[in-house]
Amino acid sequence: MDAQQPAKFRSLSSKFSRFIVALLTWLVLVIMLWDIRHQAFDFRKAVLLCAVVAFAAGLISRFTIRLLARPLKLLEQGMTAVRQGKLEPIQVSATRDEIQHLGESFNRMIEDLTASQEEIRQHRELLEERIRQRTEDLEKATRTALASSQAKSEFLANMSHELRTPMNGLLGMLDVVLDSNLDGEQKEQLEIAQRSAYSLLALLNDILDLSKIEAGKMMIERIPFNVRTVLDDCVKSFQARASQKGIALHFEVDSAAPAHIMGDPLRVRQMAANLLSNAVKFTDCGWVSLRLSASPAAGGNAVMEIEVSDTGPGIDADKLSTIFDKFTQADGSITRKYGGTGLGLAIIKRLTELHGGSVYVESKVGKGSTFTVKLPCEAVAGAAPDPATGVTAAPAEVEPSAARLLLVEDNLVNQKVVMAILRKKGYQLDVAANGREALAKLEASERSDHEYDLVLMDVQMPVLDGLETPRVIRRNAHWNSLPIIAMTAHAMNGDRERCIQAGMDTYISKPVQAAHLIATIEEFLLGRAQMQRPAPINEIERGLADRLMQDESGMANDLLRVFLQLAPERLQRIEAATGDADGATLATEAHKIAAAAEQLTSRKLGDCAQRIERAAQRGEFQHIAPELEALRREIHFLEELTAEARG
Ligand code: ADP
Repeated sequence: MDAQQPAKFRSLSSKFSRFIVALLTWLVLVIMLWDIRHQAFDFRKAVLLCAVVAFAAGLISRFTIRLLARPLKLLEQGMTAVRQGKLEPIQVSATRDEIQHLGESFNRMIEDLTASQEEIRQHRELLEERIRQRTEDLEKATRTALASSQAKSEFLANMSHELRTPMNGLLGMLDVVLDSNLDGEQKEQLEIAQRSAYSLLALLNDILDLSKIEAGKMMIERIPFNVRTVLDDCVKSFQARASQKGIALHFEVDSAAPAHIMGDPLRVRQMAANLLSNAVKFTDCGWVSLRLSASPAAGGNAVMEIEVSDTGPGIDADKLSTIFDKFTQADGSITRKYGGTGLGLAIIKRLTELHGGSVYVESKVGKGSTFTVKLPCEAVAGAAPDPATGVTAAPAEVEPSAARLLLVEDNLVNQKVVMAILRKKGYQLDVAANGREALAKLEASERSDHEYDLVLMDVQMPVLDGLETPRVIRRNAHWNSLPIIAMTAHAMNGDRERCIQAGMDTYISKPVQAAHLIATIEEFLLGRAQMQRPAPINEIERGLADRLMQDESGMANDLLRVFLQLAPERLQRIEAATGDADGATLATEAHKIAAAAEQLTSRKLGDCAQRIERAAQRGEFQHIAPELEALRREIHFLEELTAEARG
């Protein structure tokens, strides 16, 4: 019996046979009882009747098995096969009755099922093929979209110089004209043009920054700077706007907040400025505050928090998660009133991520908002040079006509702008289109006895660029104290530290603002500006020098001697590895120098080597050459120091 059949299964043929046997037995018994009753019982007749009953029962059983049970069994087997997924026709007994008809119907059903299954299979294959094709198309489209978005971002990032140069011209010339004799209406019209140009510049800067970040070209600097000063400065720059709107603006510093940290002053300032700009823009009454604090983080490090709060309109809870997306604004009506592009917060979010930090907002409609930027920070012991703060304006006491300036700039528009600003002030200004021309002019002036008092140096120039030229200038002891002011584009913040490293005294950002340019020049001409150039080695390495002088055991001198013996070979290896773009060798060699510098307690040498090591690890080979140059200078100074110690 089939295992799946019910427990009390009785085959149809056995049931039928039993019924017939019971019927015939009953008939034989009736006949025999009749005979007994009429005393006509015949034993032979009884045996014969029993034999007939048995024979008939056998015949009927065979007949039912042949006619009913076997075809039904075949049908049942066919159904079991279908259930198991085998679509095969069954063998149909030619009984020419309903059972044969049932078997044939079953086989037709199997045929139909086979056909529809085949159809389903074909459909499935077609569908799979279509899905595969669509997925491929989609992947291709995504790749194309990504490539074109990348190309767009790269295009914009590369275009930054081309886009900013005409803006420099526009803003510079507007500055110059606004400073001339204009009637009231002309002045008002030009001021509108100037405000529009500044709005356009801000928008341009946002778009270019975002493109730069998206093209993966945004470099985050790591230089020591005073974060308190940078933020204080930033808050002050919004003071006038806040007073105009009648709102209070304060800067609070938590006692635990760091002062000097390693990081990117320009970007930290940019984040704070974007948050303050929104807070002041959207707040109509009450106050805006910027709070600097710090909290300890894992691994003994600290997290710096910049918190900008306001009593403005607040932001709907359902908009809070989208305002950090680019081109997204929380409230159309408010934004129509105040303007904006929806890029500021997107830039902040990406900048914080580049710093390994985060930004979030808490806000209540009608009460105000608090934006918090958290950045991991590394405090720097002691005061560090603070390039971000620049120089402070001072009242002019200079006699411009007595001063002779040299402008080194290849771009005609920029030349004209600076010339217009300075000549208007009465300065004598010569122009050189590149570094080589500048050197020629400096040499000529040295011979003529009418020397230059200050040099304004563009950074990106053909022939001899604005980083190499100051190095050459500083090699000449005669020009060691000649003030050199770099003019760097906002886009090239990576050059700031290099400007200082290259021997320049400070920098001003492009687009050049007339008042700032003049104030900076006057500071230097009056000799009031703090020189930010690396101090001479004797000052910086005083600790090491003292150690060498008082080195009774001779150990420090020995260490230095061994280091200096090995140095030329190491420098050569670094140079070769830079040429081969061999990051691993570069990092190893730089690391060895950094370790030696630590033993020698030479901070400058160590910093320099570490910068090379980091640049090598990041694959930024273009940054190695200037650092290598600085390393050479440091080693040269150490050689002089040993000579001094021996002497
Ligand atoms: P923009 O200010 O140029 O529109 P942002 O990316 O800086 O772009 O800000 C996005 C949106 O977030 C703003 O349009 C505004 O709706 C909302 N928002 C940002 N800061 C504030 C704030 N301090 N108060 C209220 N809403 C704000």
